[in-house]
Amino acid sequence: MTTTPRAALGEILAATSGDPLRRVLLTGGAVVSMDRSIGDLQRGDVLIEGSRIIDVGPDLRSLGAADSAIVIDTAGAIVSPGFVDSHRHAWETQLRRIMPDVNDLGEYVMSTLNDIAPLYQPADMYAGTKLAALTALDSGITCMLDFSHNSRTAEHSDAAIQALADTRIRGVHASMGPHFGNWNHQWPSDLKRIKERYFNSPDQLLTLRLAALATDEIAGPEIAYGQSLANTARELDLWVSVDAVFGQASSRAILDWKTSGILNDRMTLIHCTGLTDEAWDAMGAAGTTVSLAPSSDAQIGLESAIPAVNEALGAGIRPALSIDVEVALASDMFTQMRTLLSVQRMLAVNAAYGTTAEPHRITARDVLDFATVQGARSNGLGDVTGSLTPGKQADLLIIAAEDVNNLPLNDAVGTIVLGADPRNIEAVFVAGEALKWNRELVGVNMPSLRTEILESRDRILQAN
Ligand SMILES: [Zn+2]
Repeated sequence: MTTTPRAALGEILAATSGDPLRRVLLTGGAVVSMDRSIGDLQRGDVLIEGSRIIDVGPDLRSLGAADSAIVIDTAGAIVSPGFVDSHRHAWETQLRRIMPDVNDLGEYVMSTLNDIAPLYQPADMYAGTKLAALTALDSGITCMLDFSHNSRTAEHSDAAIQALADTRIRGVHASMGPHFGNWNHQWPSDLKRIKERYFNSPDQLLTLRLAALATDEIAGPEIAYGQSLANTARELDLWVSVDAVFGQASSRAILDWKTSGILNDRMTLIHCTGLTDEAWDAMGAAGTTVSLAPSSDAQIGLESAIPAVNEALGAGIRPALSIDVEVALASDMFTQMRTLLSVQRMLAVNAAYGTTAEPHRITARDVLDFATVQGARSNGLGDVTGSLTPGKQADLLIIAAEDVNNLPLNDAVGTIVLGADPRNIEAVFVAGEALKWNRELVGVNMPSLRTEILESRDRILQAN
């Protein structure tokens, strides 16, 4: 087989972009499918047609798959599903690492959501959300739920959605009104307009959901999940993401939702630290999905500050992972997988020293499952993405396994979870299109992005 140089392949991929019959064969690398019926292949091939994966196997070339395909040699690399982020507040990205040593949730809420959020214009929503999505893609996250909780006007929502669309990420726009300050109070009624305008096709990269908080403790009843918002979600046929789920008050709320029939399997509860056993039982029985934010729980100190993987698994829920806020946290999924693995294994090992607890000793494959398959399920896209399964969308990564930090490749799952980081992400495909190629984001003008972000950041902080 002659090997086409990476740069030339990039030009061929760009020139044939959007062709629904285009075939792309990734061949000769390790394949981590995260599909139990396919498993891992030490050396395998993935065949893409248009936006979909159509075959995965040990040697598709012997079946003629290379004949009419663009062939990408993945020897020395791992082909894996893209990561799925189940919760991040993308508009805040200009404020990255503005409070690396944030004291607690109250300090974050008062500075970011109370002081700075009201200063955001639609153009700032656009800039922050775009930067978050591009960073996600660059680090191998192909699907991102944007918990967009600064929808001060219809134009703010429009800008956030447009930013996701422009990056071509598989985005979930989860819309919530702001916590504090003046706003138009167009939410949640504006969701009807948003749905009709932007989300009218079942076959598109972006999906919409309703977002809310668990209780009225932080910012009052208007944005707290309850009967009224549940009705809106049902009328518009939307899933719901609920943030700030923690402690006794949220536990009581969950039991109330159960009683009123609005706790169900079309919702994601985020954080879930310090919940009661009764609340977990109700969630397990209802089939709700759970998004853990391991670095956020610990760093910002949400309730017990311990990611609730033990409780989730005990309730029969395999959780998804999420980034939350970049004001104090890292941007990528490797950090989340490694944080959760370390914290939980610390608890499991520590339990041998005289406690009665028996924490689950989770594995590298578990956290990779949380970061892919379970993220997709939590984002309402379990049939669409999250694994290398024929019929699913081709949202996948080529991870360089023979870079200095990964050489030599001995265990592909271990390499992804414990060895790799965003610099090793050689290529990122979403719906069969290469959005990162040869380690560079495709079609992104970095100088103009830098200018846009700096201008937005400076304007916001000067107004503060
Ligand atoms: Zn959050």
